[in-house]
Amino acid sequence: MPIVQLGDEGRWTNYHGTGTCEAATRFGLRSGDALRGRDELALAAKAVQDWLTAAQAAGRRVRPLGAGWSPSNVNICSQSWLLHTRRFNRCFRIGAGDVRPGIDADALMLVEAGALVDEVSDKLEEQGRSLWTSGAGNGQTFAGACATGTHGSMIARGGIQDHIRAVQVVTPGGVHWVEPAAGVMSDAFIAATGSMPLRDDDLFAALQLPVGSLGIVTALVVDSVPKFLVRPIQNLRTVDRAALDWLAAGDFRRFSAAYALDQDPDFVQMIVNPYKPFKRPAMLRFLYREPWRDDYSHATPGELGAGYDALSLLGRLLDDYPWARGALLQYAMKLGYASGPDVDDPPVYGSWGEGLDTHRPLADLFNASVTIDRADLARAFEMICTVYARHGGSTVVTLRFMARAEGLLAPARYPHNAVIDFDGPRSERTAAAYARVVEVLDAQGIGFTRHWAKSCRLDAARVAADYGEDFRRWRAARDRLMPDPAHRALFGSEVLDGLGLTC
Ligand SMILES: Cc1cc2nc3c(=O)[nH]c(=O)nc-3n(C[C@H](O)[C@H](O)[C@H](O)COP(=O)(O)OP(=O)(O)OC[C@H]3O[C@@H](n4cnc5c(N)ncnc54)[C@H](O)[C@@H]3O)c2cc1C
Repeated sequence: MPIVQLGDEGRWTNYHGTGTCEAATRFGLRSGDALRGRDELALAAKAVQDWLTAAQAAGRRVRPLGAGWSPSNVNICSQSWLLHTRRFNRCFRIGAGDVRPGIDADALMLVEAGALVDEVSDKLEEQGRSLWTSGAGNGQTFAGACATGTHGSMIARGGIQDHIRAVQVVTPGGVHWVEPAAGVMSDAFIAATGSMPLRDDDLFAALQLPVGSLGIVTALVVDSVPKFLVRPIQNLRTVDRAALDWLAAGDFRRFSAAYALDQDPDFVQMIVNPYKPFKRPAMLRFLYREPWRDDYSHATPGELGAGYDALSLLGRLLDDYPWARGALLQYAMKLGYASGPDVDDPPVYGSWGEGLDTHRPLADLFNASVTIDRADLARAFEMICTVYARHGGSTVVTLRFMARAEGLLAPARYPHNAVIDFDGPRSERTAAAYARVVEVLDAQGIGFTRHWAKSCRLDAARVAADYGEDFRRWRAARDRLMPDPAHRALFGSEVLDGLGLTC
């Protein structure tokens, strides 16, 4: 039985406690034990379609849930039927006979939507393959992470959704297999999954980042690269203001030579104290990619520099002692950051997956971000820190870099992007300070977008303005997938309706 009901109607709270679904009936989608993935998908997708029909008949909206990590509450809907997908998590190899000519089947994996990023990464690494980017943590489901455009700081890569080559998605109207127009999987494979093929570039690009609004994603075909090693360098350094110009121009080699190794880095992240960001040491993290070799000595995620939880927790003090905010934040940075491996320490190496960690839930989390054109970094960054600090923002400010990401609604829509995150304890003052940052960027005419998963104060008018023609194409693709407005409304919620995605 792929879908089982989990208890009676009640309350469900998301992972970080930012939202609660009242009067929700919870169901679980479970993997089976079929030998072939396609057979398992055919059974599960049919069960999901029947479940959607039953929800509609019961007059309930539905909400698919991944790991429930999104603090923006795109995973919240009251008086609804919730579908937990976390136990629908098997991964299957794809054979050369299952793909269209010219497609490299060895690079692809068939992934059930509830598999964690961690699980997908492990399965790929067992086969000598790897994801090429992901977020800072790996405890999200693959479908959930893609739904909101999750990203890290791999300079030449986009978001995690760029790995998707095909999607199985279920609506009340059918079980659909969506691919780019050029096609990926063979017709026989698609038929065996119980799906109807839909080869449509815009619909595929909409489904790479659906924000939970385009039906229930049951499976993904995920692309990969050959496994590689990364060497991390992590240190606290006082960064010169002039270095922002190098970063804005994409001269990461110069930045790396000044603060870490004289090599081209693949990943650069800078976490600053917004109170005097160029006087107080920033926490820097670099990753240098190297070809795979089996004889490296394995390090733990901690030794590889993953995570900075203590920083977020200690940050609570900042709100209680406003006069000492700058100094406390710096103290928290020092305590919370895994120091090293620095340039002079013996080098440590890990695979991409080994450098990531799952996360502990943080109650009262605030997180928000703005994604800007990297070229605007030098004029925007210090101003952002100044405004945020002046208005009492009580989190660190993180700077990450990425290339343009795939998906019509990808926030990383500039050719080169600088993503500025505000992550830490929730407080009204911090939220108000972030609001002032947004106002100032608008006043200065600096373009930016916001993360779908974070508490970024978005509304439908702003989404339409930010994404322009791509938003129109996303909605047109949605309406081709679900021509019946009642089917679209089934996936609505207060948050998603407010963003203009489901109505
Ligand atoms: C501690 C922490 C660290 C984070 N780090 C990063 C980071 O480094 N980079 C970054 O970009 N983001 C980051 N995020 C944001 C995070 O990656 C997103 O919130 C992501 O969407 C979470 O995935 P999830 O599986 O928990 O999805 P959920 O929060 O459960 O769901 C997200 C959306 O997808 C929908 N959905 C989920 N599964 C399906 C499905 N099968 N079919 C259809 N719709 C579905 C949900 O309904 C919801 O609308 C972080 C968040 C936290 C809390």
